[in-house]
Parts: sequence; C-alpha cells; structure tokens
Amino acid sequence: MTWLDDLADKAVNRELPAREEALAVLASGDDELLDVVAAAFRVRRRFFGRKVKLNYLVNIKSGLCPEDCFYCSQRVGSAAEVLKYTWLKTDEIVASASAGVAGGARRVCLVASGRGPTDRDVDRVCESIEAFKSQHPDVEVCACLGLLSAGQADRLAAAGTTAYNHNLNTSGGHYADICSTHEYADRVSTVTTAKEAGLSPCSGLIAGMGETDEDLVDVAFALRALSPDSVPVNFLIPFEGTPLAGKWELTPQRCLRILAMVRFVNPDAEVRLAGGREIHLRSLQPLALHVVNSIFLGDYLTSEGQPGAADLAMIADAGFEVAGASPATEPDAPATPHATPTPATPHPDLVHIRHRGPGTTLPANT
Ligand code: SF4
Repeated sequence: MTWLDDLADKAVNRELPAREEALAVLASGDDELLDVVAAAFRVRRRFFGRKVKLNYLVNIKSGLCPEDCFYCSQRVGSAAEVLKYTWLKTDEIVASASAGVAGGARRVCLVASGRGPTDRDVDRVCESIEAFKSQHPDVEVCACLGLLSAGQADRLAAAGTTAYNHNLNTSGGHYADICSTHEYADRVSTVTTAKEAGLSPCSGLIAGMGETDEDLVDVAFALRALSPDSVPVNFLIPFEGTPLAGKWELTPQRCLRILAMVRFVNPDAEVRLAGGREIHLRSLQPLALHVVNSIFLGDYLTSEGQPGAADLAMIADAGFEVAGASPATEPDAPATPHATPTPATPHPDLVHIRHRGPGTTLPANT
C-alpha cells in the first residue's frame, strides 16, 4: 500500500489527513501525477460517482467595486477593460440564468461586485431569485453578494436561495498580500453567517497568487473547519490592469495537485473547478474531472470560458455524466513514483475579456 492509498482511504472515511500528507501531494512529482489523480478519483467516485454538476455564473452587477482585491478585474482602480454595469433588472437576470439552465446547469450563481449589499440590494436580488425560482423550482440558486450584514442571509434564504458563496481565497497569513480593504476574518464571518441562516455554504480559494504550499494547505484546512458544501477552486486569471497582471506561476500539473489536495482535505464537499481552468489546465482539463465533481459552464464574471458545447463534449469524452441526466457508474485506481517541475509559461493571449451575455446585447455562451 502506498502513501496515496493511505491518503485516499482516510478521505473515503472522511478522516482529516495529516498536514504533512497534504503538503506531500503538492510536493509530489510529475512521475506520480497520475497516481495522485487516481487516488483522488477514488475519493471523488466514492462520494459523487462519475457525475459532473454544471453551474452557471451570472454577473448581475459588474465592475466599479470600492474594494481592492489585487486579483480582481472589478477592483477599485482596475484598468482591465471589463464590462461595467449596475444591477441587472429582474427580467435580465431571469433570462441569463435561464440560458444557463437550458445549457444543462443545475445551479445558477448570481454574483454582484461590491463590498456587500445594502438591504435594498438584497430586496432587489430576492425579487429576482423569486422570479427565477417560479420558473425553475428545481434549479439551485447561489447568491454571491459580498460581506453580509445582520438579517440579510435570512432574507435570501426566505426568498428561496439555496446557497451563499463567499470564498476565503487564500490563507489568513497571506490575506494581507491580496487585499487591504477587508480582512480574512470578515470572510470567515460571512461564511458562518450564511450557514447559520440555513444557506448551503460555498467557499473556496484562488491559487496562483504568490502563495506557498503552506498557504494552500492552510486555506484547505480552514475550509474543512467551516464544512462548506461546495469548494470552488479558482486559478488566478492575471488580468492586465490589475496588481497581479503577469503572474503566471501555475502549470497544468500543479493545478491538478492543488485540486487533489483540496479533494483529500474536503473529501465529500462538492469540489468545483472554477475560473482559470481553461488557461491554466489547458489540455489537462479532462484529467481534472477525475478529481472535481463540478464545473462552471460558459463564461466567468469578466472573462470568457470555453464554449458550453466543448465542455459537454469534454465531459462525455472523459467518460463522465452531467448530473441531472442519468444514473451512476464505476471504475478503480492504482499508484507509482517521482518528479521534475515544469516551468510556468505566460499565456496573456489566453485571457479574453467577456463581451457577450449579461450587460451586452449579444447572446451568452451556454
Ligand atoms: S473580489 Fe469582490 S470585493 Fe473584491 S474587488 Fe472584486 S468585486 Fe470587489
């Protein structure tokens, strides 16, 4: 039995791995990469079979944020030429979200830029959620509106919201290096508030922001302590015009190791492959499906994703099934040794600012 078998056994039993084991996954070499993926697949298959849940983002208020999150194209002072618009109207939100449902999404995520909503903003979003749910009662709605004030999570829950997303993004120790206008503790507090209101907690991270392996393990363990139902894993999209422009430090292999580590630490959470997958995993995206059980379909908040039809083809080609379609399946996984790091290559040409869908007159990518 190898250390990866041990790790997978623990995860299947929902046991927290030792910190050293999580670090070993990140430090493993390319010769072991498929063994890492196979071990993570055992865990993924145990809790989610070969289903892939599709989620669809709708940016309901874009850009012009007063916060300064260094990774974000919507931050104050961002020179990234992203779409900027205020709150979409209810009919626009329902139409955009419905397009995602037509493309196969089982959850729509309504995301607004800003530090956090006013009570009036929450009323506005609740109205849109109620309108959407009246047409799609079986589709989950996740709200992502920033830091919440007292009572706002309860109002969202009462309107039919399933989940609330608020990412920790990075470790507490690294947080001051990626944002100066709010603190890590504010983020932890909002995830807790949402959970206490009965909303399904969704919280994840962004990798590739200059963090260490220790930081990645810290944030994965911090997430485990919050027991989120879903954990989106983003890979930095280094937009020109933001402080992290030019930061291309991820390789496809490292992305897979990060995803696997998150899976071992949060074995039964819905681990979601999120922003940056196309530009960082590139041709290894199908391998990531063996680790994650959920992806975003279509475009991201301010950048374009690969065509929805290409995602559906990738899922089918890799032998997985879209959740909400048909029944489960079964295979199995082995192991082997060693390593050589691959240098990261800048690919600014792969970042495409979104110019379609919400806020434009062009159809969305679904
Ligand atoms: S991540 Fe959210 S809070 Fe931070 S700058 Fe971007 S929109 Fe604003």
